[in-house]
Amino acid sequence: MVIYLPMKISAAKNCSVVLNKILGLVYPPRCHYCGSAFGLFDGRILCPECRNKILLNNPPFCSKCGRPTDTSVADCPHCRDHSYVFDGAYSCCIYEGIIKECIHNFKYSSRLRLQELFSELMCEFAEKHMPINGIDWIVAVPLNRSKFRERTFNQSEILGVNLSNILGIPLMRNNLVRLKSGEPQISLRYRERQNNIRDSFGLLRPSDVKDKAFLLVDDVFTTGATANECAKVLKKSGAGNITVFTLAKSVSPLPLRGLL
Ligand SMILES: [Zn+2]
Ligand SMILES: [Zn+2]
Repeated sequence: MVIYLPMKISAAKNCSVVLNKILGLVYPPRCHYCGSAFGLFDGRILCPECRNKILLNNPPFCSKCGRPTDTSVADCPHCRDHSYVFDGAYSCCIYEGIIKECIHNFKYSSRLRLQELFSELMCEFAEKHMPINGIDWIVAVPLNRSKFRERTFNQSEILGVNLSNILGIPLMRNNLVRLKSGEPQISLRYRERQNNIRDSFGLLRPSDVKDKAFLLVDDVFTTGATANECAKVLKKSGAGNITVFTLAKSVSPLPLRGLL
């Protein structure tokens, strides 16, 4: 027989702190990245040293593509050569080192606990640097069907769900969909990526997006071709402002002008 004993919230919190201390002594948490044992059993996945080594994308950054730059205008070398349909893009980290490995482990080794770290980073960034007032919906970049079958989750939707819960902005599900699977984008240049991804997305309920402002969420911004294609589909059906928000931004050397 289960006996329900009502407990005051403060007493429950004290119990939880004591329990975490005991758990921390018996099973010291180990850092996901370096493996060192650290602190209390409080849900953190990286030790403080590794957490501090994550390369955050600090302003100024280009207001169009989110790339670190010298001034906060849409005039970085990348944007001089590319035209985007979305209105702005933000990325909270630089896609290198610890965060790159964490994203790989999340996507390809299903280390789903990492979503807590990612959500914390994205929410901190959004609150500090992004104009989130006026956004009607969060929408995640859809994953192609074969990858979804293989992975069983869409990493961008997980980020979107968490952002929606924390920022209090509703998540639009099952509307923006992937219509076809192209080649993997990883080794392609911007123009090749554009061609590969063209006409890959569609809307099941186009009227739902009319005059709505969106936060389009993805894990990594590389050339922006995928986000741009999603933005095209949304804008074609009358969507208003579209802000792209990614966990990390690739700042690897750009393809040479003329070879794009
Ligand atoms: Zn560590
Ligand atoms: Zn730019």
